[in-house]
Amino acid sequence: MKKLAILGSTGSIGTQSLEVVDEFNGEFAVEILAGNKNWQLLAKQALKYKPKFVVVNDKEAYEKLTNEWHSNKTKILYGMDNLLKTLGEVPLDMVVGAMGGAIGIAPTLKALELGIDVALANKETIVAGGDLVRAAQAKGGAKILPVDSEHSAIFQCMEHGHGALSKILLTASGGPFRLLSKEELYQVKPSQALKHPNWTMGRKITIDSATLMNKGLEVIEACWLFNVGYDDIRVLVHPQSIVHSLVEFGDGAIIGHLGAADMRIPIQYALTWPERRASNFKKIDLTQIAGLTFHDPDLEKFPCLSLAVTAGKEGGTLPIVMNAANEVAVAEFLAERIGFMDIPALVEKVMMQHEKRQVESFEQLLQIDQESRITAENLAKAMR
Ligand code: MG
Repeated sequence: MKKLAILGSTGSIGTQSLEVVDEFNGEFAVEILAGNKNWQLLAKQALKYKPKFVVVNDKEAYEKLTNEWHSNKTKILYGMDNLLKTLGEVPLDMVVGAMGGAIGIAPTLKALELGIDVALANKETIVAGGDLVRAAQAKGGAKILPVDSEHSAIFQCMEHGHGALSKILLTASGGPFRLLSKEELYQVKPSQALKHPNWTMGRKITIDSATLMNKGLEVIEACWLFNVGYDDIRVLVHPQSIVHSLVEFGDGAIIGHLGAADMRIPIQYALTWPERRASNFKKIDLTQIAGLTFHDPDLEKFPCLSLAVTAGKEGGTLPIVMNAANEVAVAEFLAERIGFMDIPALVEKVMMQHEKRQVESFEQLLQIDQESRITAENLAKAMR
């Protein structure tokens, strides 16, 4: 039985990971569940999966959970320090890193240092902490299995070797505003941006998909995961979301990965790897698809993609700043305090104010992350 810790268990990837656990009844044991505010769902999950630990990151939610629910089998703990401790206290085969945002960095680093494989859905960990992730991996000797659908696809396309790799073709749905004009983009509201045409995901990543920031973060993620340069990756807008990415090899062969737009498929592959297992999740019928189209992204309309790639190419502390500014910008947009096109404007301003350094420690990363958030919040106030 594979022993799992699911971090961010109440979020979109977390709940779908538990659906994969259900699909392979009895093959996985959930030892740790970690969540933030949704204590009711944490209680339900704890009742069902009987983990050794439930760790709640939100103080109020922790208090509610301890008041409303208890079990002899499960210990309820509060906060990040306790989460990091529990990772070393129970034997684990895999940590599912499904927390949203920069908060996912510390537990991912800890798991890797302990030599525990990580099924990684939290791309901010690699974007902001790439250097540290590599060091933690070297120390613990653990693997990262990509959960992000595109990276899972690329990983699978390259499993038979990537010696003659020519280019990674990273596909993007283009988001809900693909066909709008730049003028129209100034007017869009969060409710429209939250309606993704193909994927069901959390709120932050859905906005990132609408701005194409998500694709920019994924370019950085792909460079780190597959050890390739920025010029080795081409983003292709593919509105049907059937081809989850492709790899072109030096002999001209292109190997692609096709399937339903269902996150449980890449989650399952990460959890069962190196095996490919049959499951009952949705399958596609190619005769029912009208066509598969691909085109270049419009960087004029979606500057977030270029901003992220610039940050990735520059490296050092700049991706931390870009990521923090984007998290603030998305939260401000969701609260309807700034407009949709203010998101790239704000990210760019915060990046411009930063003087790039080398990433030396996790503490330094956190400090720059915090400083960038404050800068972004102050600049956002001036934009309202
Ligand atoms: Mg993705």
